This record gives sequence, structure tokens and C-alpha cells, in this order.
Amino acid sequence: MYNPKSMEAEEFISHEEILETLEYAEKNKNNAYVIDEILAKAKLKKGLSHREASVLLACEIPEKNNEIFALAEQIKKDFYGNRIVLFAPLYLSNYCVNGCVYCPYHFKNKHIPRRKLSQEEIRNEVIALQDMGHKRLAIETGEDPVNNPIEYVLESIKTIYGVKHKNGAIRRVNVNIAATTVENYKKLHDAGIGTYILFQETYHKESYEKLHPTGPKHNYKWHTEAMDRAMQGGIDDVGLGVLYGLESYRYEFAGLLMHAEHLEAVHGVGPHTISVPRIKKADDIDPEAFDNGIDDDTFAKIVACIRIAVPYTGMIISTRESEECRKQILRLGISQISGGSKTSVGGYFNPMPEDENSAQFDVSDRRPLDDVIKWLMEMGYVPSFCTACYRSGRTGDRFMEICKQQQIHNFCQPNAIMTLKEYLEDYASTETRKIGVELIKKEVEKLDDNNIKLTVKDNLGKIEDGLRDFVF
Ligand code: SAM
Repeated sequence: MYNPKSMEAEEFISHEEILETLEYAEKNKNNAYVIDEILAKAKLKKGLSHREASVLLACEIPEKNNEIFALAEQIKKDFYGNRIVLFAPLYLSNYCVNGCVYCPYHFKNKHIPRRKLSQEEIRNEVIALQDMGHKRLAIETGEDPVNNPIEYVLESIKTIYGVKHKNGAIRRVNVNIAATTVENYKKLHDAGIGTYILFQETYHKESYEKLHPTGPKHNYKWHTEAMDRAMQGGIDDVGLGVLYGLESYRYEFAGLLMHAEHLEAVHGVGPHTISVPRIKKADDIDPEAFDNGIDDDTFAKIVACIRIAVPYTGMIISTRESEECRKQILRLGISQISGGSKTSVGGYFNPMPEDENSAQFDVSDRRPLDDVIKWLMEMGYVPSFCTACYRSGRTGDRFMEICKQQQIHNFCQPNAIMTLKEYLEDYASTETRKIGVELIKKEVEKLDDNNIKLTVKDNLGKIEDGLRDFVF
């Protein structure tokens, strides 16, 4: 029944295989011999199967758990260095025809203010985001074929890429919209999107159907096979995620890794990113009503085990999580975070107090982007606004190849330094700028290729002279 190469959702995410995996993990959670064997394989940094990783997730031996966390940190350093890429979500419309029970956009919610941005309003949102320093957005909409048809999304992407305000530019638009057709994915690809993101929410079919009782999203097969259609449509960077809290986290973890294995088996490339959202309070939504909430320690373990299982997949954490939680999790494997986010429609430009009511969920980390940048640098991270890979054609399997060989440093570190420099020149507060200038000095000296170092130094000077957008 379980077949990673199958194109049938229920075969590549096999319920029976997940149950057997969980049983195997439970049986071996205190088996030091098996865990050591898995850790030895993990140390090769080529990833683990869903079964192996599930044993690590279940592991109850304290010393082995310390090893798991240490290895996750090491892999994060080896593959992603000290860079953290920044992005912001942009909510275009909260009209939605689905009945998702955890989401305030569900169509039965009559008191949430519904709003859809006009192209003029999108322009204003983008200017506000550019003025913060953002270069990378993830656009979000509810599912509503009448209010948010694909034409609206495509027009919005064109508008976003078209806004050039002062030195600002949005250089990569990632898209988080409902599962759609191959034809529509082709259109998104042609519009020049970065990653197509779609959270599975839960891999447990029976729960999925209960949690999505009405609307097109009710169709588990359509939703679960969406990434295959996206790839058939030419999008080779796709982003997975489950909404933790809906189902048992161990079930979701195994399902998520099986999905990654399926994409690799069929398309030759795994997911570009994995997001780790946890369910939050929102209008009409009480997270306590869901039985499967996870505490911060379990959350950290999940992040560490994902890092070990798929070392070459970026991992994203949003402002759903608090500053403290983000601090703990960053070092375990996160490569991208959002900052200065608003989850309401029209939340960036001239936000009204009532706009908060249209938010998709409560944001825990409410700091302005500049505070987040400063905070990252004080912890020794290099905040990066880089969007070079996809603009230089390093997507899908080409990106994965470079990443698997731990070669992305040669591109990413210089690009991170140069985009940070742009941020410092154009948007940073005096204090952030001061810290950043010192950090850049140190980071440039650490670059080990002399030619790259010289070019970066040269480009940093040009950025001071007003030039922008240098890429490796
Ligand atoms: N409408 C699109 C879809 O159906 O996939 C995606 C956009 S939705 C705006 C983005 C994601 O927010 C959802 O996939 C879901 O995982 C997450 N979300 C919904 N309600 C949430 C809540 N109460 N707390 C945290 N995240 C939530």
C-alpha cells in the first residue's frame, strides 16, 4: 500500500505506514543501540527516513536527546551558517468559502470584517513594507473563486513586483494560496513566484475531513496532491508545513517526512522549505479547543528532528511564536523568519485599530523589523534579505545539489552580507546600523575565498555610493 512513488495521496501518505512507524518509534524510544545507529547515519548529514527520524523524535534517553540537539545545531551551522533570511506575509484578501474549524476566515464567521485589497491598496502596503526594508514577501489569501480568482492573485503579483519606491524593491514573492490546478500553477510560475507554500494542516485523512467540513478544501486528495500539480506546472520550489495542534504531532511528523520523500522520489527534488506553525488564538478560534497542542520543549524537538531528517530543506518560523521561543528554536535549524508582520488585510499602510479584527491569528512577536534585525545581530546571526538564488536560476534540484554539497555558503554568505548592508544604508536605526557595520566587518574577513572577499568589499563600497542589488 505504501508507495512513495505513487501519485495517489493515500499511497504516498499511507495511514498504515504511519501507524507502523509510530509503533516502531515507540518500541525503540529507549533502545540505545537502535538510536546510536540512527545517529551515526544522521551524522553523515544526508538525512533520515521518516521511520528513523520518528525514533529520534520519540527518544526518551536524555544523553541521546542532547546528542540530537547538538547534531541539529551542527547541521544548521554546516548548511546555513549564521544567516537568517527575513520575510513578511502580505494578506491580500480574507474572503474564504472554506469551513476550516481552526481558521477565523471560515465562511461561517460573520463578525470578522471581510476585506480584499485593491491594486492601489496593494501598492501602498508594498511601499510600507519596502520602507521597513523587506525584499521578500509571502502573499496570503483565503480561498474564494469569486473574490480571489487566480487573475486577482496574478495581477497582485505584477503590482508587487512593479513597485519601486526609493531604493526599495520586492525581489521575491512567495505564494500561499489554496490548492489549485496545474494550469493555474503554470500561471503562477510564469508570473515569477518564488516558493509555492501550502500547509497540509494535517496528514491524518479522517481528522482532515472533520477539520475541513465544507468547501473545496474538504477534499483531502486534492489538497495533498497539490504539490505534485505545482511541480507539474513548473514550480520547483514548494514549501510544506502542518499546523501543529490539530492532530498528534508524531503522526504529523511522519506524514510530513513521507511527503518530502514522495516529492524527492517523483520529482527528484524535496521541499524547498518546511514551516512549523502552531495553532494560535484568533477571532472565533480558541486554541484550547484543540486537544493536540504541543509545549515549547516538544516544539524544539520537532524542529531539531526535522533539521536532521532533511538537512537541505530550509525551515521557517513565523511571528506566531514569541521572541523567547524564536530565540530557542533559531539555533536548532531555522533558516527563515518573518519580522514586523501583520496578519490582517491592509495591516501595514495606515492600519486602523479595527484592522486587527481581520487578522488571521494573533502575532506573538510584535517587534518592528528593525528590532528583530538588531536582536538577530546581537545573537551573532547575519540577517539576510537575499533573494539571489531563484533570480539566478538556482531553484529546485539545482539549488538542492548546491545545498547538499554544503556549497550554498559561497553564494549565500556574500549575498547576505551585501543585502544586510543595503538594509543598514537605507532603513536601519542608528543603533542597528552601528552594530551591523561592525558585524559586516567581521563577517567579510571570515569569507574564505579571496576573490569573493575582494568583490564583496568592492560591492560594499558601491552600496555606500548608492548602487544596489549585487548578487553572487
Ligand atoms: N487559504 C490558503 C489555504 O487554504 O491553504 C492559505 C492561506 S492561510 C491564510 C495560511 C495558513 O495559516 C493556513 O494554511 C493555516 O495553517 C494557518 N492558520 C489558519 N488558522 C490559524 C490559526 N488559528 N493559528 C495559526 N495558524 C493558522
